[in-house]
Amino acid sequence: MSNIALAAYAASPQRSRGRKVYEEAPLGRSEFQRDRDRIIHSSAFRRLEYKTQVFVNHEGDLFRTRLTHSIEVAQIGRSIARRLALNEDLVEAISLAHDLGHTPFGHAGQDALNTCMRDYGGFEHNLQSLRVVDVLEERYASFDGLNLCFETREGILKHCSLENAAGLGEVGERFLNGRRPSLEAQIANLADEVAYNNHDVDDGLRSGLITLEQMASVRLFAGHLEEVRKSHPGLDERRVVHETIRRMINTLVSDLIMQTESNIGAHSLHNIEDVRNAPALAAFSPRMQELNRELKVFLHGQLYRHYRVMRMSSKAQRIITELFQAFMGDRRLLPPQFLRAAELEHARSVADYIAGMTDRYAIREHRRLFAVEEN
Ligand code: MG
Repeated sequence: MSNIALAAYAASPQRSRGRKVYEEAPLGRSEFQRDRDRIIHSSAFRRLEYKTQVFVNHEGDLFRTRLTHSIEVAQIGRSIARRLALNEDLVEAISLAHDLGHTPFGHAGQDALNTCMRDYGGFEHNLQSLRVVDVLEERYASFDGLNLCFETREGILKHCSLENAAGLGEVGERFLNGRRPSLEAQIANLADEVAYNNHDVDDGLRSGLITLEQMASVRLFAGHLEEVRKSHPGLDERRVVHETIRRMINTLVSDLIMQTESNIGAHSLHNIEDVRNAPALAAFSPRMQELNRELKVFLHGQLYRHYRVMRMSSKAQRIITELFQAFMGDRRLLPPQFLRAAELEHARSVADYIAGMTDRYAIREHRRLFAVEEN
């Protein structure tokens, strides 16, 4: 932690609501730093390297994966937290863990698995991230999962249906009584959005699926693009893109800090419980929200539904669905550590197995089950 004093309403490791299983306080690092370290050492974290953000891992070495995405979220989140005198370590831990429960093949994979699990309680990647750190990681002698602090778990569970919230104990309570998580969790959530909107523009342009000419119709991008071209005529196109995106991230982050500071000022906050009782305080200004929405709409229409992305998504859905059906149809095909007795538990176990797969592992497993020449 830096030596700047934290705000009274920041999350404090000394006043943490604690871990499910009691542990002695760590030596030489804070409770939230210990959480971050456990996340980095987890298997689920390493698998993020081979999971799709938008582009499947084998499409190119420079595209973001879930791992580099998570690191960018942590970087953006930490800068914001530092400026707002919030707990940087907690934002870092939440950011690095926020996508641990993501399936292979990005959103297409998540949608397919959710459809497969329709009769068995569904599949939500946020809930799965929590499940990874609460149950699925098997590394410690005294407990399942990573036994993280309440504040980290609260931040990881970004969204959750009321039905699921009811079964989650204290970490689900806020969804039932309409309260907010810590400012650190709110910041990590918005840092996620800043990160993916910007790196998807970068990856989209690099892949050629979207063009600079198209991007000129997006105001947030176009304004900075024009400035860059004016101040650096003749600059090589890749550098123009980087410089424009750098300025775009800066604008979003600065706006977020200013608006959040002003929202904090409008409430008298004495501690973290005041944050939980207040309306959402971390936010962009209304104008930036509008510009940001325009960018998102553009990305949805032009990049995420590009026919080449759709082909990948359709393949991904087929792979996930067929894997699920195969394991549900004959449980003897499942690796023994995933075998559970009851049918409902069996479906959840299959979902855990599939969700944990990297893109290429899922492709390989599919081939092993369906291609005659493989085994
Ligand atoms: Mg994310």
